[in-house]
Amino acid sequence: MCDVTATNDLDLPPGVEATPLALLMLGRGADPYSERGVECPGDLPNPADPTLVARARAAKEKLGDSVFILGHHYQRDEVIQFADVTGDSFKLAREAAARPDAPYIVFCGVHFMAESADILTNDAQQVILPDLAAGCSMADMATYDQVEECWDVLADAGIADVTVPVSYMNSSADIKAFTGRHNGTICTSSNAKRALEWAFEQGEKVLFMPDQHLGRNTAVLEMGFSLDDCVVYNPHKPNGGVTADQLRAAKMILWRGHCSVHGRFSVDSVDDVRARIPGVNVLVHPECKHEVVTAADYVGSTEYIIKALDAAEPGSAWAIGTELNLVRRLAAAHPDKQVVFLDKTVCFCSTMNRIDLPHLVWALESLVDGKVVNRIQVDADTEKYAKQALDQMLALP
Ligand code: SF4
Repeated sequence: MCDVTATNDLDLPPGVEATPLALLMLGRGADPYSERGVECPGDLPNPADPTLVARARAAKEKLGDSVFILGHHYQRDEVIQFADVTGDSFKLAREAAARPDAPYIVFCGVHFMAESADILTNDAQQVILPDLAAGCSMADMATYDQVEECWDVLADAGIADVTVPVSYMNSSADIKAFTGRHNGTICTSSNAKRALEWAFEQGEKVLFMPDQHLGRNTAVLEMGFSLDDCVVYNPHKPNGGVTADQLRAAKMILWRGHCSVHGRFSVDSVDDVRARIPGVNVLVHPECKHEVVTAADYVGSTEYIIKALDAAEPGSAWAIGTELNLVRRLAAAHPDKQVVFLDKTVCFCSTMNRIDLPHLVWALESLVDGKVVNRIQVDADTEKYAKQALDQMLALP
């Protein structure tokens, strides 16, 4: 939850008061409790400047091997063209760690990804997020205080000792550290099944955060649990909106969080595309709702989706349920196949899109001038336990 005090420094018109849930204008004001709407200091280049591409290229060339640019698959084309490597959040964090000689890592992605890169890189390396307003609404859905409170509820129900936290990569460093402190693991959409198998060897129940859909889809479709084995903990309701008996009966305690991009796809979108394109293969990300995943033909992580398209037969038709920047690039890369976006409406990740060419140019040119802007730095204690949880993921069988 945003704290009302965080809105006090907003320049609101006379007579307009901030509400406890006031939305900050992106790029204005600071909300220390949220990944969204935080300040982005500095003089950004004019977005209409026709020399931006040349400026980015020149700055990158001057910086040479001292800078390593990571680009998430959901980034815009104008940014991704400057990435030294592209990938999903986990691949990019590992790529950053594999470049110990680059003092500057420019992360074109969102805040939690830059945090993970900072955790996995050495102390001499500095991680830069070109726009601090590039957060993740899903990561925002689980704050440290809420998760601590949830753990107290589990303790009161007498099940904290037999519950293992499993946190999705798409969570803040605080939540990763909580997971490490309680001997849990991080997971990605590629290894969620292995993470759950490991967790159920350590304990009897799993607290899965913050994406309820990935947790439910993996438990039910890949692990043989039933929907009745899952219970949803709502951090905005007293005791999570569930009884102690319900918690004791559950195997999977799912945090009530979701991705605002993948959550938009519906069974109607699937039915509609099947009617429009006979024989179409529907391929969706596991962050989609359970009923959507069940209605699809294939489900898998971003990397899985990319590989599935690479391996697809020429002439085949595919409707993809994931972020639009990636789907557009896949369509362009596979002109011999029909690749369409699953939904009829536009579905970009708005926070990913915060990273644009002006911000990238600003970050790179600042480095050329010897100035590090928008550094993402995780404190030592948080880093220690978050790394423990990340290392546990790397050690998964
Ligand atoms: S696509 Fe969803 S999970 Fe990924 S950064 Fe955007 S809001 Fe977060």
